[in-house]
Amino acid sequence: MLKINGLRASIGDKEILNGINLEINPGEVHAIMGPNGSGKSTLASVLAGREDYEVTGGSITYNGIDLLEKSAEERAAEGIFLAFQYPVEIPGVTTINFLKTAVNEIRKYNGKAPLDAAQFLKLVKEKAKLVNMNDSLLKRALNEGFSGGEKKRNEIFQMAVLEPTLAILDETDSGLDIDALRIVSEGVNKLRSPERSTIVVTHYQRLLDYIVPDFVHVLYKGRIVKSGPKELALELEEKGYDWIKKEAADAV
Ligand code: ADP
Ligand code: MG
Ligand code: MG
Repeated sequence: MLKINGLRASIGDKEILNGINLEINPGEVHAIMGPNGSGKSTLASVLAGREDYEVTGGSITYNGIDLLEKSAEERAAEGIFLAFQYPVEIPGVTTINFLKTAVNEIRKYNGKAPLDAAQFLKLVKEKAKLVNMNDSLLKRALNEGFSGGEKKRNEIFQMAVLEPTLAILDETDSGLDIDALRIVSEGVNKLRSPERSTIVVTHYQRLLDYIVPDFVHVLYKGRIVKSGPKELALELEEKGYDWIKKEAADAV
């Protein structure tokens, strides 16, 4: 479904991704780990089509289409969802209104009629229940004055409503408290399905105690230097990244 081949990307004259190869099939959960500064967030951003990065080589295909030719909005409409990286606050716009616009833009792109108010409300109610999102959050301006946990729950709710086929979660380096961790992992686990693939970018092994990945990849200096089953995350927790760095250095 997602095929990344020899992907290179840079900011200014600094190369950050150095030839990423990765293949993800429907229903799989892949964890991307690695030391700080290795390019994890850059990879997430490049997949979502953020424009700060220049792709200098390689390819990304998604369900057979060339993603690099698509804008961030088109990628969203193709079913790609990026969460957590920069939780935006939009003063005066409620979560509900924001989502209604997003859902209908995506439907339009895919040649479907827009949902009317009643249909949209039904969808919202169903998904709010699924991820335990409470009404008062829905009516508040998007992320304005939300606690860390509320922002996470809101992002999970957005993901539930938008029903992406590829969800990319970038935990960021700020870390999650236990509550937020539980909210995120319960939400992601409820939304797991044979049609939806998930990329979980994380610095910490502990998130993967809750969201159990099918595969773990270690990114180091802009390359995937090691891939393995979920046990690889435990090994990293125990041994840190130094042995990975050494292996990568020896391989050169
Ligand atoms: P990670 O998420 O693994 O911590 P990032 O993708 O955030 O890594 O960053 C990878 C490298 O790219 C780092 O050296 C970082 O300093 C650099 N980088 C990321 N974003 C920018 C930017 N906007 N301008 C300059 N350098 C950046
Ligand atoms: Mg970082
Ligand atoms: Mg990061």
